[in-house]
Amino acid sequence: MSLTSDNHRAAASDSTPLDRFGRGLRDLRISLTDRCNFRCGYCMPRHLFGASHAFLPRRELLSFEEIERLAGLFARLGVRKLRLTGGEPLLRRDLPVLVKRLAGLPGIEDISLTTNGALLDTAYARALAGAGLRRITVSLDALDDDLFRQINDVGFPVATVLAAIDHAAQAGLTPVKVNVVLRKGVNESQILPLAEYFRGTGVVLRFIEYMDVGGAADWQRPAVVTADQIIERIGQRWPLEPLPASQPGETARRFRYADGQGEVGVIASVSQPFCGGCTRARLSAIGELYTCLFASRGMDLREPLRAGASDDALLALISGRWVSRDDRYSELRGRVRRGDDAQPVNMSYIGG
Ligand code: SAM
Ligand code: SF4
Ligand code: SF4
Repeated sequence: MSLTSDNHRAAASDSTPLDRFGRGLRDLRISLTDRCNFRCGYCMPRHLFGASHAFLPRRELLSFEEIERLAGLFARLGVRKLRLTGGEPLLRRDLPVLVKRLAGLPGIEDISLTTNGALLDTAYARALAGAGLRRITVSLDALDDDLFRQINDVGFPVATVLAAIDHAAQAGLTPVKVNVVLRKGVNESQILPLAEYFRGTGVVLRFIEYMDVGGAADWQRPAVVTADQIIERIGQRWPLEPLPASQPGETARRFRYADGQGEVGVIASVSQPFCGGCTRARLSAIGELYTCLFASRGMDLREPLRAGASDDALLALISGRWVSRDDRYSELRGRVRRGDDAQPVNMSYIGG
């Protein structure tokens, strides 16, 4: 492991199960739907998610009651932060109702949401904030309208997403973060325009290295624009100074603009993996527990849940899975070959 397990044992001092590398269970990403109104080529490419693709029927998805119950159990095992994602989470009807239920769970300190922003108008942002959502991350891979329309592959205009970022900030879902996935030859040209646009606004831009997750069928290492390359490019234009991690297990390397115009981050999941600090579990839209973004199989929690399992039985299942966890895919990337039957599930399904 690149980080010492001792750090994480210390961070996980109140009762949380520890996995085989001493990592506690602190964060839960909940996928609310496998559907999306975009077709980003690195996540839900049209050739895999075309008109004939069978999305999950409604009855398969966990209900709000089921999500609340499971999230409450995860909180009892040490989870403090929830992130709602998908697919596109804003497609899930009555989302503020779920947020309110989750915000009331003992132990949960932070609820955030990752969205493409397409549906985030003022009223929706206010309703989410009022229900207890703390922060929002909006994904935006280009400032150039033509390029953005090509990347989302449904011709969606960039102006609406920029407005969504404003709505989120005005609703107090701050600091708003903006995620940019960079692909060589596709949107590297957008690094400086995006940095310039968001500098000094309070919005935190975060560049993510392109990862070989399930939907990224054409992923190749040369397509990755590395965190160092990104920081160098921005730093040449506006000098940057590194910032310390603000919390244990933080995925982003953070920098501040030396002229005081805010901060920018990079998530170096490929070039500098951070599995040593990974305290994240994922719950798929149909209630499977995944202990790694790159896992090919999850553990079904919905079946026992719907069969009437007690809280203790479910806690034992979750905890038992966590203590046997030895995932560190990003650290092993390239060193181990995945078998054909071990392809990771799609990110839109497992929850990005
Ligand atoms: N639809 C929402 C959105 O786009 O923000 C939430 C789900 S999306 C799967 C969550 C995040 O995963 C997005 O920021 C997206 O850019 C990122 N993502 C998807 N595929 C990726 C890949 N192959 N490499 C890196 N990040 C990826
Ligand atoms: Fe949809 Fe988000 Fe995937 Fe793009 S990255 S296809 S917006 S789930
Ligand atoms: Fe966590 Fe798996 Fe990503 Fe490593 S590869 S940081 S274990 S999700």
